[in-house]
Order: sequence, then C-alpha cells, then structure tokens
Amino acid sequence: MREVVYADYQSSRPVDPRVVEAMLPYFGGAFGNAASLHAVGDDATAALEDARAAVARFFGAQPQEIVFTSGATEANNLAIIGYAMRNRRKGDHVVVTEAEHISVLNIAKYLEKNGFRVTRAPIDLYGRVSPKKLRARITDETILVSVGWASNEIGTVQPIAEIAEMLTGTGIALHTDAVAAEGLVPIDMSAVPVSLMSLSANDIYGPRGLGALYVRKGVQVAPVLLGGGQERGLRSGTEDLASIAGMAAAAGIMAVEMPVEVARIAAVRDRLVGRVLAEIPDAHLNGAPLEPSAGRLPNNAHFRFEGVEGEAMVLSLRDGGVAAATGSACSSKTLEPSHTLISCGLLHEEAHGSLEFTFGRFSKHDDVDHIMAVLPGVIARLRALSPLYKVKTPA
Ligand code: PMP
Repeated sequence: MREVVYADYQSSRPVDPRVVEAMLPYFGGAFGNAASLHAVGDDATAALEDARAAVARFFGAQPQEIVFTSGATEANNLAIIGYAMRNRRKGDHVVVTEAEHISVLNIAKYLEKNGFRVTRAPIDLYGRVSPKKLRARITDETILVSVGWASNEIGTVQPIAEIAEMLTGTGIALHTDAVAAEGLVPIDMSAVPVSLMSLSANDIYGPRGLGALYVRKGVQVAPVLLGGGQERGLRSGTEDLASIAGMAAAAGIMAVEMPVEVARIAAVRDRLVGRVLAEIPDAHLNGAPLEPSAGRLPNNAHFRFEGVEGEAMVLSLRDGGVAAATGSACSSKTLEPSHTLISCGLLHEEAHGSLEFTFGRFSKHDDVDHIMAVLPGVIARLRALSPLYKVKTPA
C-alpha cells in the first residue's frame, strides 16, 4: 500500500507496537482459560485481574467495577438495555441526547419497541447539551439518562460532571459513552458520579474488538448475553485475554503519556484549522470553537465547505493520498446526512458538505502540509463542477 496521510483516528487507531508486544504471550504459551481450576487457568485468572486493575486505575475506578466486553457497541447495549430491563419496576422512561452515537440511538429505538418511552434531548449549535434542558425532560418515571462524554463526529465535549451532579440524589442513573473522549480528556470515576460508562480499547491504541463497561458499585444491571456467567455474570463468554492485556497495556501507556500527547495533537489540529480557514474560501468549522474552555476534543477538526459534498471530498482526498471522513464513521457508507449536524441546526445541504479530520498519537505536523497540498485543489475542482456553489463577489 502506498503511503497515506492518515487523519481518521476517530474511526480506527493504529494499535501501539508496545501494546502488540504485551498481547503476544497470549497467542503462545499463555493460553489458559480463567474459568479453569488448574494452574494454567490460575495464570490466566491472575493476568485477567491484573489487567482489570490497570484499566480501572486509568479511569479512577475500582477493579470490580470493570466488565470486559467485545467493544463499545456491546458496552452500550449492556449499559442501556441491561439497566432498563433490571430497573423496569422503578419506571419506563429513558432520556438520551440527539448527539449520541448510532449504537445508542438504535438501542433507544429498541427500547421503544419494547415498551419504554424515550425522550431525545436537544443540542445547541455547538453540539452541546444543556443540563437545564436535560433536567426539564426528566419525569417521575425516568430511570436512566444517557449522554456521550464527547461527540465522535464534531468533537463537542459534554458537561458530564455537571450533569452527573444534577442527577445525584434523584435515583436516576447516568450512562455515558466515553469512547470519543477517552485518552483525550481526563476521566476519573472517583471524582464524577457517573453510574455506567462505555469504553473501547482501540480508542487508547489498544486492539479493536474489545471494550469495557464501567458499572459503579451498587448499580444493578441485567446481562444481555447469557452463558457461563463470566465477568460476575454480566458478560458470559470466555474472556479474550490477549485483547484484555492489550487494553491494560494501552491504559498504562496513556496514563503516562496523555498530557504531552494531547498538547502535541492539539497543536497539529490547530494548525490545520488555522490554515483551512485562512486559505480556503467559504470554509467553516463545525462544532465548538478551538479555545480549550469551549469544550472541543483536542484532536478534532470538522469543517463545512459551501457547495461541495462530503463523500466527493473524501474520495478525491483518497486519490490524493489523504484518509479523512465525512464525519459519521460508523455509518459513513450510508448517504444520510449526519444526525448530529442536523440536530445542531445545519441544513441538509450544509451537513452534506462536511469533512472530518481526526489526529492522534502518530500524527505529525507534516501531515497538515500534505493535507493542505491536496485539499484546496480538491475543493476548487469540486466547486467548479457544483451547481450549488456560487462564488461570492463583493457588492
Ligand atoms: N461509541 C462511539 C462514540 C464510537 O465512536 C464508536 C465507534 N468507534 C462506538 C461507540 C462503537 O464502538 P465499537 O465499534 O468498538 O463497538
């Protein structure tokens, strides 16, 4: 494969070579099953519990509060369906936001088909949820509120601590899908009273196909996968020890490197945003402003270019050796405009003109130069063909 400038970290991250190293023993001699009663099984149990402790430490949790799953989709299913089913006698109402990942939104639809009522709380122009507006949607029947820690599309970071405080003492559980935020903003369960939190290993440079659900001590969840009763009965199935050891190694590395890494990634991102807005006419930044206090993920640059279409931009950039996204990686092969951008108030044609760049551990300043060697020409060429684009001439 020829060299590609990779700026799509939100859809998949390279596994850190140090993580691969930590996983290798589990493809060789360390093949035990943690459920076995013999010595080989004991070694697997010890490795599993060491890994659980390392993952818990990174997120300020207790080891027994971490349940390993096959990914964040499964963690979201276990959190929301599992909590709703287990706590149904307390009420039948769930609140999510309009900015949620497609897995949360589809789970919400599933709950509706199964007798629950779901309210979707609005977001503002920047993609932010107002705790006040959220509170206004709570009823006596509400049992669960689900708010993603940050948007995987436009990178807006939600006021999770404020929302968690607002719900404290109400008996309503707060679930957060923290996948887009992990490794980019500090997450500390000893400081923020979240009940349930979905995590993915790959988003901290661990393997794909592994995630975890944080379940605060005392929070009751019904399993959605039934079987041998692994993971304290919450997630049956033999644990994938290689991937779990990988997630633990990834968490350990991130705990040390995150502050320096985040500053470096933000500098790359800021440089791209600065150059795009200065050098390409009729380009806009979607989502929150770049100032750290505005609540935007440090790796996210999400643009809207007037008169051009997202898929056409991504495909033309692909020809120029740049890997970017239209913004909703998990459903990017559908031609629906992003539900998040529509909820932010963009028109369909505006949402269709969006392009997302996300940076990460292996991004370099050079990547911005490569992108900017290709992107202005791509936009100009597509606009020349576009009946939608009108060159603005001063009156
Ligand atoms: N939540 C968010 C915010 C995501 O970005 C993703 C996809 N990376 C998921 C959930 C689903 O994760 P997975 O594909 O690992 O199940």
